[in-house]
Amino acid sequence: MIPEVPEIIIEKLKLPNREVETTFIVTLQGKPTILRGFRVQHNNWRGPYKGGIRFAPYVNKDEILNLAAQMTFKTAVVDVPFGGGKGGVIVDTKKLTQEEIERVSRAFVQTIYDIIGPHKDIPAPDMYTNPHVMEWMTDEYSKLTGKWQPAVFTGKPIHVGGSQGRTEATGLGGYYIFEEILKEIKKEKATIAVHGFGNVGYWFAHFAWKNGHEVIAVSDSQGGVLNPNGLNIPEVNNTKKMTGSVINAKGQHISSDELLYLDVDFLILASKEDIITQQNAGKIQAPYIIELANSPITPQADVILAKNNKVVIPDILANAGGVTVSYFEWYQNIHDEVWSKPQVFERLKEKMLDAYANVKQTAQDKDTSLRNAAYILAIKRLAEAYQKKGE
Ligand code: NAD
Repeated sequence: MIPEVPEIIIEKLKLPNREVETTFIVTLQGKPTILRGFRVQHNNWRGPYKGGIRFAPYVNKDEILNLAAQMTFKTAVVDVPFGGGKGGVIVDTKKLTQEEIERVSRAFVQTIYDIIGPHKDIPAPDMYTNPHVMEWMTDEYSKLTGKWQPAVFTGKPIHVGGSQGRTEATGLGGYYIFEEILKEIKKEKATIAVHGFGNVGYWFAHFAWKNGHEVIAVSDSQGGVLNPNGLNIPEVNNTKKMTGSVINAKGQHISSDELLYLDVDFLILASKEDIITQQNAGKIQAPYIIELANSPITPQADVILAKNNKVVIPDILANAGGVTVSYFEWYQNIHDEVWSKPQVFERLKEKMLDAYANVKQTAQDKDTSLRNAAYILAIKRLAEAYQKKGE
């Protein structure tokens, strides 16, 4: 219950505005194949729906619905003028050629083009979709509508209207919050462990390493590597690029689970959902945990961590750097502007620190966790937008 927000608003936020399910035929491996796709438009009180499209064999409507709702809260916490949406196609891209992925991308857009648009719903990349997919989708949408409209998708390659700094955005956004916490606790250097050395985890580790912090362990799906004196992040990254995993980098070999229990100042969760559960939450030693992945801590684990006085920076705040730079990309497209990388980084920092300050203030005012505070702040902003709009 949030006393200043009518119950009906909370009830509505539990429901999506619209769920669209589509089927279409694409020729794959020489055979016409029926594929199923989804676009869930959760809420648009604060602006057009915003959220990724994923291609994966396990995509299902419930998962997409959940992720679409998270986007509604994330865009509200970081205060960008968007709502929340998410989409997906049930398909295993590992079995497809680039030409086939292009055909799937274009065919899916043909089934949803009338419900998306620069002022309606702006999709982005997600799992197993990337800037190339966004370029094909933008091209297909533009063909169908008879006009080049780059602002309909974000996460595009730079040459078709993508923004500088999008690749670094999620890791860097989390890094800005990390720096702010260090200021608060008057600590100059910190020790860090990063669970999940993919795009997001790598960029967080990169900025931490570049600024003199000790990233003592990192891991990926094959395992982890530890050096108590600090890893050389560019070297680890090169090893991962050349051999496929961080486990081949210089240092002591540890499992990904062992990494979670290290005695570090900050544990960075940048791999996937459900990493800290009821079973292992009690073993976490790090006083600060930053959720760069979506939902890496289960609700039951959250309770245990809170009992053990761990501070958790919640996903809808910590990983909002990505959607923030997506907003910058859309803004540049709409206004026909091109921002430099330093401009993007400066504006990203401002947005992340504002959001963090507002969430922290709400947590103090309501005497609650940062996660609850982030949701309270988001719901209050959504309620205000609904009331301003009228019925
Ligand atoms: P990615 O695929 O580039 O990286 C994920 C990494 O996690 C990979 O290195 C993988 O090997 C590793 N991993 C998988 N299972 C693991 C395990 N059990 N133990 C340790 N490592 C494991 O993906 P990404 O883009 O870096 O995204 C990571 C997370 O952040 C996802 O939850 C994603 O939804 C979330 N996220 C990403 C963005 C973005 O801008 N990329 C924005 C918001 C949230």
